[in-house]
Amino acid sequence: MSAGAVEAYPKLVEQILACQKCGLCRTRTQAVPGSGSITAELMFVGEGPGKNEDEQGIPFCGASGKLLAELLASIGLNRDQVFITNIVKCRPPDNRDPLPDEITSCAPYLQAQTDIIKPRVIATLGRYALNHFLPNQKISEAHGRALRHQGQIFVPLYHPAVALYRASMKDELMADFQVIKKVLNKLAAEPDLAASQTALI
Ligand code: URA
Repeated sequence: MSAGAVEAYPKLVEQILACQKCGLCRTRTQAVPGSGSITAELMFVGEGPGKNEDEQGIPFCGASGKLLAELLASIGLNRDQVFITNIVKCRPPDNRDPLPDEITSCAPYLQAQTDIIKPRVIATLGRYALNHFLPNQKISEAHGRALRHQGQIFVPLYHPAVALYRASMKDELMADFQVIKKVLNKLAAEPDLAASQTALI
């Protein structure tokens, strides 16, 4: 990571915390820029902060986050070794889905985060995050696959929240996390994997 990127990240966080580009700034407690390592190879992108995240300023710090930590542990990782963020940085009221104009307003922040962090793999959590990057993919078909798109490797995943009310989804998520592990192992052996034609796993 360049010295410029190290300087750029705190400035980006300041901008996100002060952002007033959409109506969510009027109902949030605070914006939730992201957490983890800014040199991470693996970035998780969820939908948007919930109640706990809005109160604490940390993404995935509630029940979904507890499961995310468990899923990470299943592949030998912890939260500090990855970067975790959301499509929208402020909580949609009553946990409603983010609106198109809110996603559009917030998109440059996610773009700036990926430009600075340059993750080798982006794991999307849920339909909104998947379709932000890969608009034509269906989560039921794409989850647990490793995909190349515009020189970036993606692993689409179901949102951990679904496993909180459908227990069978936890096994599915566990299996899909193994795909992340396989891609990271393959990247260690083949650093040009994103640009090559080789199978991703
Ligand atoms: N759900 C999300 O999509 N993001 C969070 O940060 C928490 C719950």
